[in-house]
Amino acid sequence: MTINTPSPVAPVVTRFAPSPTGFLHIGGARTALFNYLFAKHHGGTLHLRIEDTDRSRSTPEAIAAIIEGLAWLGLDHDGEVVYQFARAARHAEVAHALVASGHAYRCYASIEELDAMRAAQKAAHAPQRYDGRWRDRDPAEAPSSVKPVIRLKAPQTGATTIHDLVQGAVTVENAVLDDMVLLRSDGTPTYMLSVVVDDHDMGVTHIIRGDDHLNNAFRQLQLIRAMGWPEPAYAHIPLIHGADGAKLSKRHGALAVGEYAKMGYLPEAMENALLRLGWGHGDDEMITRNQAIAWFDTGHIGRAASRFDIKKLDNLNGHYIRSADDARLTALVLPFVEAKIGSPVSLSQHSLITKAMPELKSRAKTLLDLADGCLFLVRQRPLPIDASAEKLLDAAGLALLGDVAQTLSTEAVWDNPNLEASLKSMAERLGLGLGKIAQPLRAALTGTTTSPGIFDVLTLLGRDESLARISDTHKHTKLQ
Ligand code: GLU
Repeated sequence: MTINTPSPVAPVVTRFAPSPTGFLHIGGARTALFNYLFAKHHGGTLHLRIEDTDRSRSTPEAIAAIIEGLAWLGLDHDGEVVYQFARAARHAEVAHALVASGHAYRCYASIEELDAMRAAQKAAHAPQRYDGRWRDRDPAEAPSSVKPVIRLKAPQTGATTIHDLVQGAVTVENAVLDDMVLLRSDGTPTYMLSVVVDDHDMGVTHIIRGDDHLNNAFRQLQLIRAMGWPEPAYAHIPLIHGADGAKLSKRHGALAVGEYAKMGYLPEAMENALLRLGWGHGDDEMITRNQAIAWFDTGHIGRAASRFDIKKLDNLNGHYIRSADDARLTALVLPFVEAKIGSPVSLSQHSLITKAMPELKSRAKTLLDLADGCLFLVRQRPLPIDASAEKLLDAAGLALLGDVAQTLSTEAVWDNPNLEASLKSMAERLGLGLGKIAQPLRAALTGTTTSPGIFDVLTLLGRDESLARISDTHKHTKLQ
């Protein structure tokens, strides 16, 4: 069952709150996308909060990778990036305010004491949770040797229910939630406190995040209620699995979004694939950014784990490559081409690639494929000939090429219709299909067996280069 989301009345504020302990992975990117689309759909805002309170695991490299990954996907956030660690004093202030209002208290239990408490609970096969021993105790009894923590005075009876926009109503008995620590004895805030204070201070109205945080939401809601703050709406999205149904892991392929960029995927294809992970609009597979903004709602987020299938991404990528602007594709493919040939592409080669793009892009699934397709345009003579092309350059192939060279060298006008007419009449004269001539010719001109149409190849390369490449194959074979 899905829940229809009523359109929020107040301006929508969402946030993406990654912990910078690793790169922006597929799951995080999908969370960011859903927050972005939800905000845009409602004309609201999206904030980016870097949850860098775990000082030993947060790294500047991870922060940079997250920001770069979001920029690559075009998921712009509003306002300045909020860094959670920098707000520690404000978090502590709230913990103290809660003590003052009677919603929190100082707990002086020593570590040894708490260890003993848990050991006794374990021995009695009872759940291990803080037993509230300082909840109502007079602080005058506090031992001077122990620095206290501050704990939330959580309700002990009744239940806490979250009306989750994806999961529906989820209830937990308050008796199973103990009084969580808000401020550690060294005065540093806990993660639960920081998240709640930041969400409130940033005016977050909708919390859309992975369902691994659903358990935290009950305690967070208790804290929000203790402060008397407005309650956000929650949408906990199911996790992403691999195509085989197992929890997504490294063996399913790259997990960092940046790696997909390096593998030659377009950001719009990645975005479309991420969107389809758990959200749908009928049977639509290809959904543009604008359509997604118009259609996105939490009511159509599924409750089951979604499956990430790289083959679907490949198909989407092929589709977006075919519909992408040629000049943009050329700019995107150049670094891949240059990496392959190990040298910069000249201006004339650049324009040659743009000219060939309508043909080249029709057969590429990734920018890496596209770069392979460009190589014949930029490689210097004599061309490297791959194994399958080599087979076409046998004695018969070379004999044919001799004929082809003669025919083409007398060509007055070097354009598709003329070249086609000449080679067709040559094929008729020899009693061969045009394909028989095209095969060794393609091998000679491109060094491969796949390329755009043979007449396009001839016109792209031009007369001199084409004839020179044909003549190279004779030298090349004679040398062996
Ligand atoms: N920082 C948490 C994470 O990266 C997310 C916290 C939240 O969204 O409330 O998993």
